[in-house]
Amino acid sequence: MTVPHVHLNNGVEIPQLGFGVFQIDPADTAAAVSQAIGVGYRHIDTAEMYGNEKEVGEGIRASGVDVADIWITSKINNNRHGYDSTLAAFDQTLTDLGVEQIDLILIHWPLPEAGDFVGTWKALEKVYAEGRARSIGVSNFQSNHLNRLADECTVVPAVNQIEVHPYLTQDALRAFNAEHGIATEAWSPIAQGGVLNDPVIKGIAAEHGKSTAQVVLRWHVQLDNIIFPKSSSAERMRENFEIFDFELSPADMGFISALNRDERTGPDPDVFNYVPA
Ligand code: NDP
Repeated sequence: MTVPHVHLNNGVEIPQLGFGVFQIDPADTAAAVSQAIGVGYRHIDTAEMYGNEKEVGEGIRASGVDVADIWITSKINNNRHGYDSTLAAFDQTLTDLGVEQIDLILIHWPLPEAGDFVGTWKALEKVYAEGRARSIGVSNFQSNHLNRLADECTVVPAVNQIEVHPYLTQDALRAFNAEHGIATEAWSPIAQGGVLNDPVIKGIAAEHGKSTAQVVLRWHVQLDNIIFPKSSSAERMRENFEIFDFELSPADMGFISALNRDERTGPDPDVFNYVPA
């Protein structure tokens, strides 16, 4: 099955479907990553905060697939905001992953009160200019945070990774991203399983002979979202990969989008200011 690519604003192509490793125990991460690559995934989404960057690197090396053929995304942790601290955190991420260049590095959270996302972004602009990051982006940024970057910085983020699923469709922020040439990455694309028993989604899944997870992931693909569902089971990794052999009708898409309740599974970025020690 061929995974489509999304063309980012700097000309770089990212696989639209990847594998997320949040909440995979470091002891299990190398095996899970290697297994996901065996299934066909060529894009891994990790973060310093997840505590498993080293194991992601190990899993990629164990897979037998050249690291150059695997898209890797990681994120600057909340306690590494600020120019100098971010440069040091970035170096550590490359060392832990065992690579000299990363495909995409993000600011994990804007931390509008507790952090310094402008200084952090300027550090990412530097590593981008040096060619040590092929692309740079943000995560959990609202439009006011993106406007501040536009006013005070130079490089437009390649992506904004935000929580999106049928109960939180984020129409306004997704449209804002698109208007500014920023690709939307959707985290917790199946709401950590929370949308899988929805009767509307179950009905559509039955019509297509697909699982509810496959229908929701397909809905994201047709909205042009970049996704990286997490699973610790090889069977569900495969299930989540098999979403390119069917298509949802405009009516199906509309029914799923109409399920929006503006319901988050994670924190609200406008007020989230948690900085670990
Ligand atoms: P997901 O929406 O990907 O859901 C993962 C959960 O759903 C797990 O409990 C998994 O269980 C279960 N699951 C996966 N596939 C299936 C399936 N086919 N059928 C039934 N259950 C299934 O949640 P995540 O929060 O993990 O989000 C995905 C990725 O997004 C993360 O791994 C991370 O990379 C990123 N992320 C980024 C954030 C940010 O702030 N930037 C925040 C949160 C996530 P099991 O493992 O048992 O299969």
